[in-house]
Parts: sequence; structure tokens; C-alpha cells
Amino acid sequence: MAYRAVNPYNGKLIKEFAPSTDTEVEEALTAAENFYQNAKKQSFEQRAKQLAALAAEFTKNCDYYARFITTNMGKLINDAQAEVKKTAAFAQYYVDHGAAALANQDYSASAKQPAHLEFSSIGAIVAVEPWNFPYTQVMRVFAPNFILGNPVILKHASIVPECAHAFEEACQTAEIPTGAFKNLFASYDQVTTMISDARVQGVALTGSEKAGAKIAAAAGKNIKKSTMELGGTDVCVILDDADLNKAVVGAAKGRLNNSGQVCTAAKRYLVQSGIYDDFLAELKQEFAKYQPGNPLDENTTLAPLSSKSAQKTLQQQVKDVLAGGAKVLWGDPTPVSGPGAFFNPLIISGMKFDNPMYDQELFGPVAQLYRVTDEADILRIANHSNYGLGGAIYSENLPAARALAAKIETGQVAINQPLSSIPELPFGGVKHSGYGRELSDLGIREFANIKTILG
Ligand code: NDP
Repeated sequence: MAYRAVNPYNGKLIKEFAPSTDTEVEEALTAAENFYQNAKKQSFEQRAKQLAALAAEFTKNCDYYARFITTNMGKLINDAQAEVKKTAAFAQYYVDHGAAALANQDYSASAKQPAHLEFSSIGAIVAVEPWNFPYTQVMRVFAPNFILGNPVILKHASIVPECAHAFEEACQTAEIPTGAFKNLFASYDQVTTMISDARVQGVALTGSEKAGAKIAAAAGKNIKKSTMELGGTDVCVILDDADLNKAVVGAAKGRLNNSGQVCTAAKRYLVQSGIYDDFLAELKQEFAKYQPGNPLDENTTLAPLSSKSAQKTLQQQVKDVLAGGAKVLWGDPTPVSGPGAFFNPLIISGMKFDNPMYDQELFGPVAQLYRVTDEADILRIANHSNYGLGGAIYSENLPAARALAAKIETGQVAINQPLSSIPELPFGGVKHSGYGRELSDLGIREFANIKTILG
């Protein structure tokens, strides 16, 4: 497998990295085990200081780290800088709250004896991470596990090797102890080998359903804990009483942010009949504001997709969507030519449950529009999905929006705003969107030994 950074704006090769050898894999496992054993003798608070240094490094050299995101996977430079700041914020959250989340918790036993829970480390965690948020995804796994005392070995997406390398560099600059974090340019086979190694006790994956099924199977075969943060076909529900402008801007951002390559992107707009025509008219104008260009230029509003391969996949998916009976309401479905991996934003309608593409995740700037009548109609469509990651609802009636949110079969729903990851809040899904939670106090306990002490 080639770990190759190719700029998706112009197709130029930036740098290629040699794959990790089996010896390097073994060295990483040994160093991780040493860190795990040593960390048991330290307090959570000691590691919090080291993690604070890592947060500070990302904050201080934000522009340096951001540039790798933009050149490796095409994210707009402003958004790349925002991602680096968020990466620091995720680390800082666990600096400030990690130890508290791992404090002993009193429990009462039926025999009226004292009992409590203790949270402790379990060993190395393998993190298999995607290219769409090359630093935040890694920090979501590293920060909580580092505080806990679990070392993390990273297998990053092969198209963002400079980001993987830069994350490791940041750890070295911040003097994160040897063995606590290691990036490997690992093959799939090496990942499987690591999962089966006794020194590894868990695996966290963010990526496609296909990769999730493979990694979860390897974890299951070896009786290892896993968390799966997979895809989604999230709905964005616009009720008749929504603030139209807020809904239009939020819905467009929710779909076009990161050129649509977000697991919790607003992929299906469910718009109530009374507001449908106005919403569509304004949505077209809002989509038209997103203009492609060089992602390193701060004035560009639409980035290329992450790679030529992603462009080709989405082109074929859209072709299949249209062949299945859907139609384009706005936008030009003609493939964009040239060396850049650009894709024209599209608004499509007429996607029926029997369209063979209905349950597929379209990872790009393609919005599906549905006209809906009442709550039953909304839930009929919203919950007709193999996925169950997130969703958004726009309405000026908060109690009604919350009641509707409770009935949507996903792990999270945002009201009057696009869904995004926030350090204090658990993030994860149900159904084929995976299992387990990242971030918050729940995220730090995923790979903890939750030990009951009775008496
Ligand atoms: P993948 O799921 O293939 O990649 C995610 C990560 O998993 C990468 O590090 C990848 O490595 C790794 N991986 C994949 N298969 C294996 C395996 N068998 N063993 C070990 N590691 C593995 O996503 P793609 O980049 O191919 O994107 C395909 C689709 O997946 C997208 O179009 C989108 O629908 C979905 N996706 C969803 C994401 C989300 O945020 N939920 C993120 C990324 C993709 P490598 O890069 O070397 O293949």
C-alpha cells in the first residue's frame, strides 16, 4: 500500500512515505507496552500536563499543521486552521476534565455494602483513522487514551501521510513520552496482526462501513474491544415554522462543509410542504455562493474532493442515483475535467426507497431533497435507513423539535444548527453507523477497565 500525498487541487505528487516494516511494527508494540506499564505508576494529572503541551503546540503552530491538511486532502485553508484549533481544544478538554471523568465512582450494592468503580488503563489501542479530519479524528482517540494510560498506535489513511507524520512530530515537540503515540505507515495485514497481538487491547476505527466490518471482525475474532464510527445518511428536517434564513444557511453549510465529505453531513433534506418552495428557491441561491478554487486561497468557498479516486467514485454514484429514477433539481452533473478533484454541488430529488443507491453514503456535495407532510411522513423517511449517525432539525418550536429529535433513530440530533463534534458531548451512532462513543466523559471510558470494588 502506498502512503502518498497528492495535492487534490492540481494532482501533483507532494511526497511518498516508505511503508512500515514488520520490525517497526514490533518496535512500536514493545514501546507501547513499556509506556503502558510505566504509566500505571503515574497519576492521570501527570499526563494532563504533557497533553496540555501538545494542545499548546497545535495552537502555536496552527498554520504549519493546517497547510498539510489542505495540500494532502484539499480542505479550505480557513477550515484547516479551524480543524487544528479544534484538535487543540479536544486535547485541552481532556487536560481539564479527563482526571475527573476517571475519578472513582461510588456505587451501592443490594447487600448495603460499600462499593465503587475504578477506571484504569487496559493496554495499547490501534487507531485506524480517515482523511476527512486528519488531526481531530486522531486526537479524539489519542487524548482520552493518553490521559487514561493507554498508548495509541495510528494507522492513518494512506492519502494524508504528511498529516500523520506531522501529528507524530507535534507529539515529539510536546515531549509526549516514548511509546505513548506512534504513527505507522501500516498495511491492512499489519493492522490485523496488531489487533491479534496480546499487547493490543482495543481498536478504534472511523471510516466506511466496509472497513468497519473488516476491523470489527478482526477485533471480535480476537475478543478485543472496538469502537466504530462509520458513515451516515443524516437527515436535515426543515419544519414549516423554521426560520427560513437560518435553515437555508445551516442546511447548505451542513452539506457543503468539507465539500460534503463529513460523516454527519446533512445528506437528506426533509422539508415540510408549507416551506418547501421558499426553501428550495433560497437554497439554490445559497449553493451558488460556493465557488471552487485553490483551497490555499482564503477566498475560495468550495474545495476539491480529497482525491481523484473519490471524485470517480462519486461520479459513478451520481450516475447510478439518476439511473435509479432521481433527478437533478439544481447543478450540473457533468463530470468536472482537469487535474483537480472538483465536483459540482447538486440538489437532487425523486430518490425513492427502491432506488438501488438509496442507502449509500454520497461522500460529496450532493444534497437530496424530500417534500414531507407531517411527523409520520418525516419519521417514515428519516428512519428508513441502514445508518443512524446524526441529524438536524430546524424549527422555532423548540419543545416540538426536541420531541421529534427523540424519535429519530440516530446517536445525535442538533436543533437549529448543523451537527458538529464538540468536546463535551458524546459522538457516535447506532445501526450501521457503528457503536461506541468518542469525546466527553463517555469517550474516555470506552477503553477503560471499569473495575467494581465491593466491600
Ligand atoms: P475507508 O473506510 O476505506 O478508510 C478509512 C480508514 O480505514 C483508512 O485509514 C483506511 O486505510 C483504513 N482501512 C480501510 N480498510 C481497511 C482494512 N481492511 N484494514 C485496515 N485498515 C483499513 O474510507 P475511504 O477513504 O476509502 O472512503 C470510502 C468511503 O468511506 C467514503 O466515500 C465514505 O462514504 C466513507 N468514509 C466515511 C468516513 C466517516 O467519517 N465516517 C470517513 C472516510 C470515509 P487506507 O487509506 O490505507 O485505505
